[in-house]
This record gives sequence, C-alpha cells and structure tokens, in this order.
Amino acid sequence: MIFVTGGAGYIGSHTCVELLNAGYDVTVFDNFSNSSPEALVRVQRITGRKLQIIQGDCRDRSALIAALQQSRANAVIHFAGLKAVGESVSKPLNYYDHNVVGALRLLEAMQTCHVQTIVFSSSATVYGDPVYLPITEDHPLSPTNPYGRSKWMIEEILRDAYRSDSLMRICILRYFNPVGAHDSGLIGEDPQGIPNNLMPFIAQVAVGRREHLNIWGNDYSTHDGTGVRDYIHVVDLAIGHIRALAALKNINSAQNDQSSGCMTVNLGTGQGYSVMDVLRAYEKVSGCRIPYQIAPRRSGDIAACYADPQLASQVLGWKARFDLEAMCRDSWRWQSGNPSGYQQ
Ligand code: NAD
Ligand code: UDP
Repeated sequence: MIFVTGGAGYIGSHTCVELLNAGYDVTVFDNFSNSSPEALVRVQRITGRKLQIIQGDCRDRSALIAALQQSRANAVIHFAGLKAVGESVSKPLNYYDHNVVGALRLLEAMQTCHVQTIVFSSSATVYGDPVYLPITEDHPLSPTNPYGRSKWMIEEILRDAYRSDSLMRICILRYFNPVGAHDSGLIGEDPQGIPNNLMPFIAQVAVGRREHLNIWGNDYSTHDGTGVRDYIHVVDLAIGHIRALAALKNINSAQNDQSSGCMTVNLGTGQGYSVMDVLRAYEKVSGCRIPYQIAPRRSGDIAACYADPQLASQVLGWKARFDLEAMCRDSWRWQSGNPSGYQQ
C-alpha cells in the first residue's frame, strides 16, 4: 500500500494512475486546499480501480498517524505542499509551515508507524541560478526564494534522518518543469486563478480564457532571447516515481554503503526549449493562434535551466519518453475538453 500525500493534485493524480495501473494499492491523504476530489473520481475512472481517500492536513501529526495506521502503508510518496514561487516571497511563513513543518510531521508519523520508505517531490529550484548546464545532482544548491529554500531544508532533513537510521529508504526527486496531462484528457493541471507557469497560461489563451501571453523577456542569452527550460511530460514524471519505489525496494539492506538508501535524482528530459519554442509547438498541435506580447523580465527568472538526466537512467532505469509536441497535445486535449478545469 502506498500512502500518497497531495495525491489529488496535478502530479499526485497522474502518479496515482500509474501506481494503480502498476498494481499498487493507494491511499491518498490530501486537504484539498489546491485540488478537487473530482480528480480522484477520474483517476478511478481511468484505471477502473478504487483508491482510499483520507482528507487531512500534513501538519496534523495525529491525523497522519491515524491515516497511516488505517492504510497499513509500507511506503509514502510526499507531494503535499505549496508551490507558487511568487506567493512564497510574500508569505514565507506559510510556505515553511506547509512544506517544512508538513514534511517533519510526516516523518515523525512514519517513525511512529514504522514506515521507512519515502519518495519526496523536490524541485530544480533548489539549484538556483545555474553555474553550469546541464545541471547534475552535485551542482551547488543555492535556492533564491522561500519556496526553493523550503525544498532544500526538507532535503537536508531527509538526509539527516537517513544518517540517523540507515534502514530508511529515501528518494529525493528534483523535478524540472512538469507539463502536459494524461492522454485520456480526464485529468490535468487545474491552477486556481491566474496561472504562474507557462504551459497552463498558454493553454488558457488557446481556449479563449485569456487574451494574450506575456513573454517575460526576449533579451536573454538563449537561441531566440526567451527563457529556456526543461519541460517534462507529467506522465513521464509519474512513472519516475514508480521506478523510484522499485529502486528503493531493491536496495540491499546488508550493503553498508552510507549513501545507497538515500538517493537524490533529477527528473528532466535533458532538452531545453524556449518560450517561443513552446508557443509554436502549442499553436501547431492546437491549430489556435496564441497572441503574445513581449514584456519586461520577471524578477528572479533565469535565462536557461535543463537537467543532466543520466543518473535517473543509471539508478532508476528511467528516461523521459514524451517530446514537446506530445506535452502540448496532451495539455491541449485536457484544456479543450475541460475549459474550466474540474469545475464544470
Ligand atoms: P498541486 O498543488 O497540484 O498538488 C499539491 C497537493 O497537496 C494538492 O492536492 C493540495 O491540496 C495538497 N496540499 C497542500 N498542502 C497540504 C497540506 N498541508 N496537507 C495536505 N495536503 C496538502 O501541486 P503539484 O504541481 O502536483 O506539485 C506536487 C509537488 O511537486 C509539490 O510538493 C511541489 O512543490 C512539487 N513540484 C512541483 C512542480 C510543478 O511545477 N508543478 C515542480 C517541482 C516540484
Ligand atoms: N513565462 C512567460 N510568461 C508567462 C509564464 C512564464 O514568458 O506567463 C516564461 C518564464 O519567464 C520562463 C518560462 O516561461 O522563462 C517558464 O516559466 P515557468 O514559470 O513555467 O517555470 P519556471 O520559471 O519556474 O522554471
């Protein structure tokens, strides 16, 4: 049984589909602060399988203990948390509370319930402004905002937890830029309010919910002047979690290698695309024109960021399969079929 915190969210719901399809039983623990229970109804429709749903908050240790006991979970995937970089600057304490305190309470509850395996959602944001590209896992960590620092702090807490208990099995996954949706068109990203991220914004322009895209800067030192990122299909990302669970299970506990039970792995494609590349690919698959305006650079943005994904291939046997066109096509199928997201 896998206990999935934040399982109703964007990445969590896609991961639940892959877990159920791979034969795992799943309990979702979510407070639905940034998601809809409808996502889980659809996960069950896609897979034809049931999952257990427990509404609760990760900062509530006793609720976590009760839920872990009820679920009889033997591993946790921890997605729950807040993720808007800009909001983390204006509400840092809220971010440290949900993210750091939430992770701490979860680890305490796991200890109480003797659950020793965890896969954690970290982010490429922990690297900050890249010193070199592509980014390997040993790139220096220098997050530039409270959201990124909350992820970095949780990573350190996990590494310390492992140092104190080498029977723990920990996989820290540093995601690059998750986009796209399940190819059923039934689940996808459903941001509340104005989307911060590029692809959901483009999707809302294409479907007519917004007039035009603001391109935040076209004077970066990239091939066309717009920012470059490593976009990764959310289904590839979800499969990365299944591989992580399998890799953790295969670690030999007799092995006395200090690092073996605690891995940190990038999940990206290794390929960078610019804002203009994404816009053109989206226009191609949707058949819609995406009006845009060039606007000043967004504060805190970097020119380019993409992963070296080789470690994921070596230790998880994982490689991204979907290309940019598939990411845009699946995003468009979700957005055009559900123009208002889960709210019908
Ligand atoms: P999301 O907001 O769609 O999902 C997060 C889920 O956690 C939501 O269902 C929300 O209701 C729940 N949640 C939030 N705080 C909670 C709490 N205190 N207790 C219980 N549930 C809570 O986000 P997502 O895009 O699916 O991201 C999942 C994880 O991946 C997050 O930790 C995020 O920081 C990380 N991540 C996301 C991205 C991205 O671009 N989407 C990139 C890198 C890392
Ligand atoms: N971007 C943009 N307009 C938007 C949103 C994003 O031009 O409305 C650009 C942004 O400047 C960056 C890229 O798209 O170069 C990806 O931004 P996103 O916020 O999705 O990811 P992040 O910057 O956090 O990696």
